[in-house]
Amino acid sequence: MKVEVLNKVFDVRKFVNNYKNSNKIIGFVPTMGALHEGHLALVNEAKKNCDIVIVSIFVNKAQFNDKNDYLKYPRNFESDIEMLKNCGVDAIFIPDELEIYPQNFSFKITPTTLVDCLCAISRRGHFDGVALVVAKLFNIVQPNIAFFGEKDFQQLLIIKKMVSDLNFDIQIKALPTQRELNGLAMSSRNMRLSHKALQKAPLIYQVMQNIKINPESIELQKIFLINNGFEIDYLEIREEDDLKLNNNLKSSVNRRIFIAVYLDGIRLIDNLKL
Ligand code: AMP
Repeated sequence: MKVEVLNKVFDVRKFVNNYKNSNKIIGFVPTMGALHEGHLALVNEAKKNCDIVIVSIFVNKAQFNDKNDYLKYPRNFESDIEMLKNCGVDAIFIPDELEIYPQNFSFKITPTTLVDCLCAISRRGHFDGVALVVAKLFNIVQPNIAFFGEKDFQQLLIIKKMVSDLNFDIQIKALPTQRELNGLAMSSRNMRLSHKALQKAPLIYQVMQNIKINPESIELQKIFLINNGFEIDYLEIREEDDLKLNNNLKSSVNRRIFIAVYLDGIRLIDNLKL
């Protein structure tokens, strides 16, 4: 089947209504483009679970607290479309800025839990921007199931909470982080790393593995990263459900290691289940 590339909200609604009327299951994968195998894993899972798969590509200015980061975010729309065509998605929604945020746009969505730690601290307003765009995209696409990666674990929790608190009739499915063979979590931001930085970046995964084996070594692992040219934003063990800090070696609740670092000024995040 031919893939539809849609730029307007009106056209997405028309496309989706057509299938909703015949009770098809609509799957949705929101992305910011510069697609990699991590995104494609979400798309393939959507294809397995749904009749119709829609992927959005929108670099959402509202979730960037750093203008330079927004401007430098990789954009490969042509090759993204090609990749998605090859995956057999049914429609790609690529709105422009004004389609999502018209000039008189005036609304905010602010999560009030899960935002006192991790990326919410160093990227003020980030999750307001994420919640806003995801809520808008959910209202535009009205999928039955939406697919998100555990790579952005805090984002995943916040979206699940938003869906529950705001009564979106959408099932959220999470997929594990897809990694390069050397352990580096796939990320659009990896495309911005220099050759040298790309060689160092797998240390992020190595450090998490070390902490998993020996949680007491967390401070040593920080020093190891700093000595290797990383600037650390956070490296912490937190509970999976509510992101409460929990370094208790005997704890029986589900916990994860969360990390955010800067390498060559580029922010990389990852997490690993303990
Ligand atoms: P992004 O384009 O970075 O906003 O990501 C779009 C979706 O892909 C989000 O749900 C991310 O969590 C997910 N994602 C990004 N990288 C990965 C990865 N390496 N493995 C699994 N999912 C990912």
